[in-house]
Amino acid sequence: EAVVNRIAAGEVIQRPASALKELLENSLDAGATSISVVVKEGGLKLIQISDNGHGISYEDLPILCERHTTSKINSYEDLQTITTLGFRGEALASMTFVAHLTVITMTEGQIHGYRVSYKDGAMEGEPRPCAAIKGTQIMVENLFYNVIARKKAFKNPSEEYSRILDVISRYAIQKIGVSFSCKKHGDSRTDIHTDSTSSRTDAIRAVYGPGVARELVSVTASDDDPSHSIFKMDGYISSANYSAKKTTMVLFINDRLVECSSLKKAIEVVYAAILPKASKPFLYISIAMPPEHVDINIHPTKRETLLSRSLGVPDEAEESMPVQTQGGRN
Ligand code: ADP
Ligand code: MG
Repeated sequence: EAVVNRIAAGEVIQRPASALKELLENSLDAGATSISVVVKEGGLKLIQISDNGHGISYEDLPILCERHTTSKINSYEDLQTITTLGFRGEALASMTFVAHLTVITMTEGQIHGYRVSYKDGAMEGEPRPCAAIKGTQIMVENLFYNVIARKKAFKNPSEEYSRILDVISRYAIQKIGVSFSCKKHGDSRTDIHTDSTSSRTDAIRAVYGPGVARELVSVTASDDDPSHSIFKMDGYISSANYSAKKTTMVLFINDRLVECSSLKKAIEVVYAAILPKASKPFLYISIAMPPEHVDINIHPTKRETLLSRSLGVPDEAEESMPVQTQGGRN
């Protein structure tokens, strides 16, 4: 059974950045306003995430890493209205089948925290009292130690590290009000650092550099025709003066990080047509639409989201447009 679990886990956790994304989303779901990440060897040796969220109660520790155990969903109807990023209760469980996982956590009003490790979906021993501050720290060590072929596929830790930075960067500009930091283990310098008091443009500047931030144009759109669905979009796009080597498109739909390569291509084409020199844009777009138009439940990694095209796309009213969630394989 461990082997079957390991195979299933490999589907959910495809690479270090997908583990990081799940951990980050858990911290955000726990209401954290400060999240810091430390990475060793592109996340293959260590991903450590510390948050100041609500913590995990002692009673929940034994089942924390059991598959399909989640504190976030109670009924099927909840799926339509779910406001948390996680809802499957699969991520932590999966990690324990392909890595060593240790949790240190403390809830509000406790005088000490608990530390406990997990393997293959279960606790290793009892939670032990330890010094802590309110919040949760999770360490994922030796990812894919028991999936040799997968481990070998990641030849370039710096490539994996940049994928991790990419996921954090995107959340850092979406979740203003939350401070993010990320660095390599042993480095004093952070590679990402945002403040909880930053405005969105401050966050974009901190993450993507002053060049892009200087040239940003705010974009908003909405469609509140009552006969139609309610659709709102806002974001920033780089102006004509900005020119980068590659397009950066940060897309959130209903607060979920997604990817849409067809939209990205279309925008590149428009840019190339309008601007004299080949210019690649930076875009940050956040779309809010009724949840019934978005199916977040088609794949365990939530990498793909199904968008109903009845949002004003004329001739393919009932067809759906697949959008991919960022963080997995691209
Ligand atoms: P899901 O997010 O789909 O519920 P996960 O496997 O990602 O499932 O997490 C399992 C449970 O562990 C969550 O439902 C939550 O109760 C708890 N949890 C995980 N990470 C944290 C965290 N950083 N702070 C507080 N609770 C957490
Ligand atoms: Mg989760």
